[in-house]
Amino acid sequence: MDAANLRVRATLSIREALAKLDATAAGILLLVDAAGVLQRTITDGDLRRLLLAGCTLDDTLEKIPEQQPITARVGVSEADALELMRQHEIQHLPLLDAEGGAVSVLLRKSIHEQIYLSPPHLSPYEKEYVEEAFRSNWIAPLGPNVDAFEKELADYVGVGHAAAVSSGTAAIHLGLRLLGVKRGDLVFCSSLTFVASANPILYEGAEPVFIDSEPDTWCMSPAALREAFAWAAREGRKPAAVIVVSLYGQSADIDPILALCREYDVPLLEDAAESLGATYNGRQSGGFGRIGIFSFNGNKIITTSGGGMLVSDDAELVARARFLATQAKDPAPWYEHSQMGFNYRMSNVLAGIGRGQLRVLEDRIAARRIVFERYCEALHDIPGLEWMPEASFGRSTRWLTTLRLDPRHSPSELVEKFSRQKIEIRRIWKPLHQQPLFEGAQYFPHADGVSVSEELFENGLCLPSGSSLTQPQQERIILSLRDYLLRG
Ligand SMILES: *Cc1c(COP(=O)(O)O)cnc(C)c1O
Repeated sequence: MDAANLRVRATLSIREALAKLDATAAGILLLVDAAGVLQRTITDGDLRRLLLAGCTLDDTLEKIPEQQPITARVGVSEADALELMRQHEIQHLPLLDAEGGAVSVLLRKSIHEQIYLSPPHLSPYEKEYVEEAFRSNWIAPLGPNVDAFEKELADYVGVGHAAAVSSGTAAIHLGLRLLGVKRGDLVFCSSLTFVASANPILYEGAEPVFIDSEPDTWCMSPAALREAFAWAAREGRKPAAVIVVSLYGQSADIDPILALCREYDVPLLEDAAESLGATYNGRQSGGFGRIGIFSFNGNKIITTSGGGMLVSDDAELVARARFLATQAKDPAPWYEHSQMGFNYRMSNVLAGIGRGQLRVLEDRIAARRIVFERYCEALHDIPGLEWMPEASFGRSTRWLTTLRLDPRHSPSELVEKFSRQKIEIRRIWKPLHQQPLFEGAQYFPHADGVSVSEELFENGLCLPSGSSLTQPQQERIILSLRDYLLRG
């Protein structure tokens, strides 16, 4: 916006300045000296503070304290300008020419910032733990932050023990190892999930069998799981493990799944990478299986930039996870190895980030649930939208706000259109049984002729859901969505 109308001299009264702020509606004035050099910026808040400090409306701007204005040169890139405004928490950036004259003002709200699906959201606490790691030179893998993070997460989830590892995928891989999955074994796994849930089955040379979702939770269908167990029994094969995935912040319906696992005597591994903080019948997601895993990848509800956790009530199992994750060193005065291990442990620096993040987990859940509610409210009148249900058995964290569109809309077209507006929207996971990687794998649908995961993939979407999503950002998304969905 042109700066010409925004320039004021210190001889202006506060009353006149307020009127000018109103008339120009830019939310800012530029205080310049006789030579036209910018002295400082003036906002509505600055003027109100003057009045609160005892000035009258007839006092002039000479009373306003000095301030070094934050400025940039004309031609600054949008990204740099935005970074500067973010750093200084300002909404306006005066742009100066080579002579130092303010020629225009960039409004933050007029720059369309990239809105990400689920970006990291740090708190003031991570730094303390990371700095402690630096101060004490615990930069090496392992150390006090790792021990404390394991204990704190285990306490939060309500499980006996936890082992911090380098990723959620690593935790699943170790989990399958610990459950004794071998080459040629069957492993049942939710189909509607990220590929990382099932890749470790392939690492072990085992055979994935994919289980559909149910409509009430979008997570594993107990009916489909029952069919799969019956099929395996007919084949005379006992699966080595079941991997149940709790999707998009919501726990799967664990009780009937556990009952089937008990009936067939097969251990359950809970992939709770997306459901940390969700509850099921009053207990925390991730603590129900023989093994549970979490991810702290950058897009998850809390992050260590990259990391994961394996949890279990079985102390020996978790001790073995730590052993396998640190190259399987046998107890001996030299490097002695009788088993193949992995380098899968979390570093002490990253565990420090995790400790800080864990302290604000409940805030992050509350924020994501508010984001979900705002979408619902603002789009409630649009026909054909169907939000992911929150099952009656517990709390969803609403890690991602997900919904199904009316089938006349194309989700891919919407994703592409929004990407051009710098808004990251994603399709729902493509079911793994439909992935070329798993071609030929067995798949059990929810019911005869009813494949819930395929239907969800056809018209499902994930909306930007970060806990740091601001209300103006969300309003921008909502306006665009309304525009697209109502006018096509
Ligand atoms: C993110 C995710 C993983 C993998 O976690 P990483 O830490 O990225 O390895 C596994 N399963 C599901 C369902 C996920 O969403």
